[in-house]
Amino acid sequence: MILGGGFAGVAAARRLERRLQPGEADVTIVSRDNFTLFTPMLPEVSSGGIETRHIVTPVRAQLRHTTFVLGEIVRIDLDLREVDAQHPITGDVAKLQYDQLVLALGSVTSTFGIPGVTEHTLPLKTIEDAETLRNRIIAALEQAVVTKPGPDRDRLLTFAVVGGGYTGCEVAGELVDLFRSIVPFYRPLRLADVRMVVIEAGRALLPDLPPQMGEYTMRNLRRRKVELVIGDGVTRIDERGIALQSGAVIPSATIVWSAGVRPSPVLKDLPGVEHARNGGLVVNPDMSVVGREGVWALGDCAWVPMKPGADLNDKNAWYPATAQHAIREGPTLADNLIATLRNEPTRPFHYTSMGTMASLGARRGVALMPGGFVLTGFPAWVLWRTYYLARLPGLDRRFRVLLDWTLGVLFPRDIAEMRLYTERGRSETKTPSA
Ligand SMILES: Cc1cc2nc3c(=O)[nH]c(=O)nc-3n(C[C@H](O)[C@H](O)[C@H](O)COP(=O)(O)OP(=O)(O)OC[C@H]3O[C@@H](n4cnc5c(N)ncnc54)[C@H](O)[C@@H]3O)c2cc1C
Repeated sequence: MILGGGFAGVAAARRLERRLQPGEADVTIVSRDNFTLFTPMLPEVSSGGIETRHIVTPVRAQLRHTTFVLGEIVRIDLDLREVDAQHPITGDVAKLQYDQLVLALGSVTSTFGIPGVTEHTLPLKTIEDAETLRNRIIAALEQAVVTKPGPDRDRLLTFAVVGGGYTGCEVAGELVDLFRSIVPFYRPLRLADVRMVVIEAGRALLPDLPPQMGEYTMRNLRRRKVELVIGDGVTRIDERGIALQSGAVIPSATIVWSAGVRPSPVLKDLPGVEHARNGGLVVNPDMSVVGREGVWALGDCAWVPMKPGADLNDKNAWYPATAQHAIREGPTLADNLIATLRNEPTRPFHYTSMGTMASLGARRGVALMPGGFVLTGFPAWVLWRTYYLARLPGLDRRFRVLLDWTLGVLFPRDIAEMRLYTERGRSETKTPSA
């Protein structure tokens, strides 16, 4: 049984489908969403550059021979080999038994315990987050246009992104494109009235990547009038805005929290396993969970070592939590699971990263290529679009995204605000009275 229908879970299930002999094993995948979300394109959904449904691919369409169960995992009992899955619509809890368990539950946004983050910021992790962010931005502009010039209007027109990693930079670049496209609808507001700020506690943007990438990104965003606050951490967030370590305060009504993730909290209290300091499950090089036979873990929820005996304090001794790695870990884990069923030896996971890319919007990007070669600007952006379009699961999805990109050249972004995040957004099903 596989828990989680994201990149890692689906990649493992696909390999099992391909390699298992008829009758050798039944594969079930349990996930709270019935689709896989293609996260690299999530920033473009939040800016309205791509339609929401075009970056999600139903699990059932990807796995024709696997049983799919829609359910939120609420309890895992490793001793009884039983999982409780709560149906997100009916609320019913199903007790599911397994022989082999694969944990692929991914990660959640980490607030690092900073006061006010949960209440006053918008994460960007799920498809609902992207849709909410887009609508909240439009709502802020609608409100600003009827607010007198002054501090209240300035706060409404200040948009902040906390976290200068590749997701934060992509979101900032995308939002600048969004404002260029839609602010003309909001007369008398002008583009110069909109303030976009990126806050990064480290010494540069993209702090984990080669300096040329961070430097290019800073130049590019500054040229597009994005204010960069570098080397200053957030201490508190409230309804007025962001308080920084330096004592500065940035008044903002729309704050995107993109400062990091931590492994799924469902795994936090699992007994008899080893947890890393962020709660991730420590696995052996073959991705079997340390201390538990018949349990495997991969993707963002696992700490997969590059070598046996890797030091938990050495970040570089473990494979990073990226989609690129999750997708490659899946087939190796499936092969090892099959090897275990057949009493054959397992093999360690080995993978050399193909690099990292970020799209900055406005037809610019940065890319770290194999061999450490850095590409910036238009060629990096073309590479990003070509590579990720090819990786998007489902031919129909690829065509839809391609069409979104083509239409984006011809028409401005949509400013229809869907108030999905309010109670009013939910319609009542009324029974016609007799
Ligand atoms: C905005 C954004 C942009 C990104 N861009 C890139 C990029 O360009 N390149 C890259 O390599 N990586 C990127 N990443 C990182 C990448 O998304 C993750 O590393 C990848 O998704 C990890 O795959 P996974 O299968 O472990 O987790 P996920 O893909 O998150 O899948 C976890 C699955 O488990 C399900 N689930 C979670 N909890 C429960 C529960 N309690 N019960 C039932 N089901 C549950 C979820 O619904 C989901 O289907 C990005 C991430 C974000 C947020």
